[in-house]
Amino acid sequence: MTVLLNDFKGQWQELETDVLDAVSRVGKSGWYILGSEVSRFEVDFARQAGVEHCVGCANGLDAIELALRALGLEAGDLVLTTPLSAFATTLAIIRAGGVPLFADVDESGNIDLAQVEKCLSHRMNVRYFVPVHLYGNPLDGKRLAWLKSRFELRIVEDCAQAVGTSGPERPGTVGDLAATSFYPTKNLGALGDGGAVFGSNDALISACRVLRDYGQSAKYEHARLGMNSRLDELQAAILRTAILPRLPDWLSRRKAVAQRYLAELTNPLVRPLPFTRPNDAGWHLFPVVVPAQRRSQFMTHLSEAGVQSAIHYPRLISEQPAIAEGRFEQFGTLTNAEAIARAEVSLPIHPQLTFEDIERVVHAVNSWNPA
Ligand SMILES: *Cc1c(COP(=O)(O)O)cnc(C)c1O
Repeated sequence: MTVLLNDFKGQWQELETDVLDAVSRVGKSGWYILGSEVSRFEVDFARQAGVEHCVGCANGLDAIELALRALGLEAGDLVLTTPLSAFATTLAIIRAGGVPLFADVDESGNIDLAQVEKCLSHRMNVRYFVPVHLYGNPLDGKRLAWLKSRFELRIVEDCAQAVGTSGPERPGTVGDLAATSFYPTKNLGALGDGGAVFGSNDALISACRVLRDYGQSAKYEHARLGMNSRLDELQAAILRTAILPRLPDWLSRRKAVAQRYLAELTNPLVRPLPFTRPNDAGWHLFPVVVPAQRRSQFMTHLSEAGVQSAIHYPRLISEQPAIAEGRFEQFGTLTNAEAIARAEVSLPIHPQLTFEDIERVVHAVNSWNPA
């Protein structure tokens, strides 16, 4: 038995009855696109996230693009963001017409807000910022709010890894809009693709609603050139009654795994990335760093001990072939991001891990003693 990074079969055992009920409800309703399941899920999700509104859409990539377009991003506008994230964060910026401007991260892997401040003081023409609460580790919300007002920034928070994160100025409540993903591996994952924009500004939310549905302001009335990016009734129904109600329990299970790792991992060569507020974090991933030249050996050791692992992320977005053609700008060096990309390993953390699974991971990590 291998300790998996994600256990979708184990998850199905928990969910089966509730998912089949949700599917049956939608089938009987005879309504598959933009109906009551989507709107009811939007209400429930917004309440969970601590905002007024939510707009379901097709995926997290689209959610970021919809939010930037609703905020009025125009072709060529610079968008400050992190080079250490899912490629989708930057892809959305480029698809919306923006030019990504990368700044370095701090030792936690999150974009360094001191660098952000420095960058904005130097470059007066930056109006947009897409911060990512990476690994489920919340950025400092007070500082984010201060930067927003000091530099008159339009902010889209990428909360794809931060659903369920708590604490003051929690992720998704500081920016003008926030975006998230319901990709199956996320803290709140559907059984397929899905995403959402959320926030409390009525006008911006209305703009997202129009943009997700071909830019229709009323039937056959196209106010803007929109997208087809709708959350479907099936995924919304599954999310609303099978998955969202389990989120608090699943989050506390993630947190319990993290607490055990933090207490029991003692190998001096394996250092958990420092989360600023571990008790508020969403713990989407459990990232550690090891000596870079020993990383593949570490992952082989884990694999031989029956433990899956992964890297988030092996290559900076600024070094991806798709955008290497002068399509971005950079503020200063990206030294910390490069160091994490070379040394990071993600250990299994998900709600279906058993006591014995966690023990297996701890033992595998602690017994690693490279020559
Ligand atoms: C998963 C993810 C996305 C993209 O979400 P999709 O639903 O796969 O498009 C964007 N940003 C971050 C930080 C993510 O983890």
